[in-house]
Amino acid sequence: MQIRVDTVKSTPCCVKETTHAAAWDMSSSYLDFTGSIILECAVSKADDVVTINADVGYTEKITCARCLREIDRPGKKTYTLYVNSPDPAAVIDVNALVREELLLEYPLKTLCSQACKGICNGCGRNLNTEACVCAKP
Ligand SMILES: [Zn+2]
Ligand SMILES: [Zn+2]
Repeated sequence: MQIRVDTVKSTPCCVKETTHAAAWDMSSSYLDFTGSIILECAVSKADDVVTINADVGYTEKITCARCLREIDRPGKKTYTLYVNSPDPAAVIDVNALVREELLLEYPLKTLCSQACKGICNGCGRNLNTEACVCAKP
């Protein structure tokens, strides 16, 4: 979503855009986004500051760092972004700002759940779904 500063009014205006996740370039080794990303923004301007209340809905495809399981997890986030923009002809790239916020929230390792039991070092079973078959001492 691109917003030209001189089209923004002092009263909030709503803009909605749905784009495919692939266009957002959000992939990394542990995280990928799949399906559509729905961005809904209320945009207003006071003096030279553009305020963007952004609601973003998405589906993230994560690979659990512990059990290596891949899961799709829907999510929704709300961000308030302030852009100081004295140049009325400037164009704000909202996707880039939201993308930055989203990626900042991810730790370097993502887990399918905090309670994930992981994979047994001995037998290689996924302990979330299977029992360990290692010989007990
Ligand atoms: Zn896991
Ligand atoms: Zn085992």
